[in-house]
Amino acid sequence: MTPTTVESASSDGPVPTAAGRQVSLSLTRRPARPARHLADLSSAERREAAVSLGQPAFRADQLSRHYFARLVDAAAGESMTDLPDRVREPLVAALLPRLLHPVTTLQCDDGRTRKTAWRTPDGALLESVIMRYPDRATVCVSSQAGCGMGCPFCATGQGGLTRNLSTAEIVDQVVHAARVLRRGEIAGGESRLSNVVFMGMGEPLANYGALTAALRRLIAPAPEGLGLSARGLTVSTVGLVPAMRRLAAEGLPVTLALSLHAPDDELRNELVPVNTRWPVAEVLGAAWEYAERTGRRISIEYALIDGVNDDLARADALAALLAGQLAHVNLIPLNPTGGSSWQASAPAGQRAFLRRLRDRGIATTVRDTRGREIAAACGQLAAEPRRTGPHTSASAGPAATVGDAPTGSRVLR
Ligand code: SF4
Repeated sequence: MTPTTVESASSDGPVPTAAGRQVSLSLTRRPARPARHLADLSSAERREAAVSLGQPAFRADQLSRHYFARLVDAAAGESMTDLPDRVREPLVAALLPRLLHPVTTLQCDDGRTRKTAWRTPDGALLESVIMRYPDRATVCVSSQAGCGMGCPFCATGQGGLTRNLSTAEIVDQVVHAARVLRRGEIAGGESRLSNVVFMGMGEPLANYGALTAALRRLIAPAPEGLGLSARGLTVSTVGLVPAMRRLAAEGLPVTLALSLHAPDDELRNELVPVNTRWPVAEVLGAAWEYAERTGRRISIEYALIDGVNDDLARADALAALLAGQLAHVNLIPLNPTGGSSWQASAPAGQRAFLRRLRDRGIATTVRDTRGREIAAACGQLAAEPRRTGPHTSASAGPAATVGDAPTGSRVLR
């Protein structure tokens, strides 16, 4: 894979890896500043913003109710009639600017999986995926446009990092999903968004401030936020240990999904280059601290790559690492990406790996491949609509028991 080397804009510089690659924990260039949006602001800040626009503070609450409770963000039509005509447009322009413009929308799984590629006004591309299940509805969101972590099996990693997303750019992906589900635009009728997984483009913990602010907006009751249950939120990471520790102390009981992919440093250095900075023992130590502080079970993500990490010796090693811990393993048959010749383990190999972990007492499921047809499955998000393929119905495998990180959109992390 092409080396991913980026200049550091902070104290975290590029991290050299064993394979000579470099990954970045920070931005390649000074980020464009997306327009201010009320989802970037706390309730108090929104009221201050309304006052600074010459309006009474309660206008901010009215707008927040439209956005977070009614899921409306446009001044046109009959949607915001509680706002006087003369202030409606300027208020919406100032506090609810359009942040994300849809580029393409693709569906599969009989319309129950929908991927949207978005473009921001400064030209950044990102993707989100909505997945409808019989008992829940999940959106997988991006936290960055692109990613600087350089995992060689991942389409996002192969494209590098464009920039961090703002809090509101993250939240708006969720509000959009809640809106289309509520309006019954996803096959299966009207529905309520129940789960959010941060497994789209980017490494969420590399955009820590925007991530945690977004989590707070999603959890806060309306009109301050969307009022989702923290138990329905999952944050994925490749293992940025200091940020994992920091997240554990936030008092946000969200599920942490750790993209492990190998139990040994030698192989993980190759699959997850940031492992050269925080090796397996250190990453798992931070994960167990997280579980202890939050009471939440850690989801261990493990991509099954044919002939690379799917031998039974590694299943044994993984089981030994996880024994007695509050953890669950999600096995993810590798999804194909253009720049990698690696393949998913054969079904027999998947079953053998699964059986071995279960025989050793490790709770394990295999994730289905929903979304693969529209390049919306794990590891495939690249915000390049032209690369996406035709739609066919996807297989429905066993449901993931944590978060959802599923099928629909997550990048394989
Ligand atoms: S797997 Fe995740 S962390 Fe790794 S390059 Fe892809 S998006 Fe980034």
